[in-house]
Amino acid sequence: MKVVTTFREAREEARGRVVLVPTMGYFHEGHLRLMEKGRELGDTLMVSLFVNPLQFDDPADLARYPRDPDRDAGLAAEVGVDVLFVPPLEEMYPTEPFTRVVVSGLTETMEGVHRPGHFDGVATVVTKLLAGLRPHLAVFGRKDAQQLAVVKRLVVDLSIPVEIVGHPVVREPDGLALSSRNVFLGPDHRPTALELSRALMAAADLVEHGERRAAPIVAAARGAAPHLQFEYVELVDQDGLTRIERLDRPAFLAAAARVGPVRLIDALFFDLSPEGEPVPDRGVFLEAPSVLYREAG
Ligand code: AMP
Repeated sequence: MKVVTTFREAREEARGRVVLVPTMGYFHEGHLRLMEKGRELGDTLMVSLFVNPLQFDDPADLARYPRDPDRDAGLAAEVGVDVLFVPPLEEMYPTEPFTRVVVSGLTETMEGVHRPGHFDGVATVVTKLLAGLRPHLAVFGRKDAQQLAVVKRLVVDLSIPVEIVGHPVVREPDGLALSSRNVFLGPDHRPTALELSRALMAAADLVEHGERRAAPIVAAARGAAPHLQFEYVELVDQDGLTRIERLDRPAFLAAAARVGPVRLIDALFFDLSPEGEPVPDRGVFLEAPSVLYREAG
């Protein structure tokens, strides 16, 4: 594995079909599974590691964002990453960018309401990564469901020749979606944090029992999480992110809640079977707790 710090060096390593997995580091199996998926889909696997200040709406969140580039490099090498691109701030933003990528429409609900400016930062850095590294394909997680829709839309709108692939949510054995910020969850927070994935699973259960109306599906999610103060629970269509009344097209149920010092988000996708029936994607459950905790001792 080559560790590089400039766009040029990263491009010089490209052979054949190039796959990119963009990340902010502090790797867990959510990242590692995306990389393994990327490994299967191309010849050169690039992973970018950059904590993008532009997408943080809260300076305190940016300041304490967990970082451990050496550990990350070890984990990336183990899963067969070819190029780990770790640009310093000067490489990514040599000057304050006058150009920002703003995806309207898709960013005014859910995360967009609670994290002003967040998606402008995401869209701008993703566009820079795609332009600077020129991958044929890029893999993003379904956990950040709205982000995935925003990225899919921006590559269409800007005619960027890249295929965007979504990967199922990777979960702890108890269901909690992996997140680098989970290291800040104390044992006292864990039971409440678990209610988030339980809420989504309860909704999936109801759908599997035949429910198609949005209101009872959302109510089932809320009902399964009595101690959680949700910021939102929304059932929306996968591409347009408009709220739907019936589960009759590809959709996802997304939710966010603050638990102690951490803001958690999670999503459960409903894809359609060939017969047009919704099929819940509950994600991938790990068999043992994440490396996130193992390494921390
Ligand atoms: P981050 O480093 O948190 O910005 O995440 C980098 C990529 O990994 C994004 O595409 C995320 O959606 C994805 N990701 C993070 N956590 C998970 C997870 N638990 N399951 C699936 N994808 C994830």
